[in-house]
Amino acid sequence: MKIEYLGTGAAEGVPALFCNCAFCRSLRTRLAAGEKTKELRTRMQVLVDGELSVDFPPDAFSHMARGVDFSAIKYLLVTHSHMDHFYAHDFVLRGYKYAKEMAADTLTVYGNREVLEVFRESTWRELKGEVAKHVRTMSVNAFEELVFDDWRVYTMPAHHSSEDPLLYMVERGGKRYLHLCDTGRIPDESMDFLKALKKRADVVSCDCTFLWEDSDPNARHMDLKEAVYTRERLRRAGVCDEGTKFVITHFSHNSAPSCEALARAEETYGVIAAYDGMTIEV
Ligand SMILES: [Zn+2]
Ligand SMILES: [Zn+2]
Ligand SMILES: [Zn+2]
Repeated sequence: MKIEYLGTGAAEGVPALFCNCAFCRSLRTRLAAGEKTKELRTRMQVLVDGELSVDFPPDAFSHMARGVDFSAIKYLLVTHSHMDHFYAHDFVLRGYKYAKEMAADTLTVYGNREVLEVFRESTWRELKGEVAKHVRTMSVNAFEELVFDDWRVYTMPAHHSSEDPLLYMVERGGKRYLHLCDTGRIPDESMDFLKALKKRADVVSCDCTFLWEDSDPNARHMDLKEAVYTRERLRRAGVCDEGTKFVITHFSHNSAPSCEALARAEETYGVIAAYDGMTIEV
């Protein structure tokens, strides 16, 4: 299983879209001088085996332009409707004159009710019939098992917003990827569900929006300590072991995610700090 971290930033990106804080200002200056740095972060998207995407941000175009064939994406699992995770306007371009010789005829979008509502709101003006037939939407709830082709996906509730946001466990060819973003402390019922599945994850992506900044345990995102605590809970539940790659991601400019701060997190806790373009194969 190949997991590509196409985007690893929080909603506003890093540097943040309209921000002039010291971190963003300094990063922008270095980028303008032509520096190549892992500190530049687009909004979150994770691609599994080139055909299943978790979320679809406003930066999807730039992810494609780095050399990824988006026409091959057959399945899109959307965690929730926030704009950094689901930029639905782009789907009016999947077909007709805008997209030719697509590797996969149809893209199926899985999402909660709010996600499907955002899809409708964002596409009704411009979605041509010739395009609509290539994009399918499917409603999904927590505690479901989805099976398509040789994929198997399990869904669980996140602690994030009022719309029933989802966490996903993705399985293919005996390998498993667990996606735990955007969420604060993982709800007990999600942990119980994972435990009952009795399936070990090879790779886990965990929210780490606040990084070294202390956050409230009731927050809608995690800090580093909460991410590490999540790993402990997963180990106790039999979902993780020493061999599981535990990746932290969804970083915000507010916690100044410098290469140095992330290297310190990796050394201290044995986690892997994601960056845009990072690939893991298991
Ligand atoms: Zn987000
Ligand atoms: Zn900033
Ligand atoms: Zn969100």
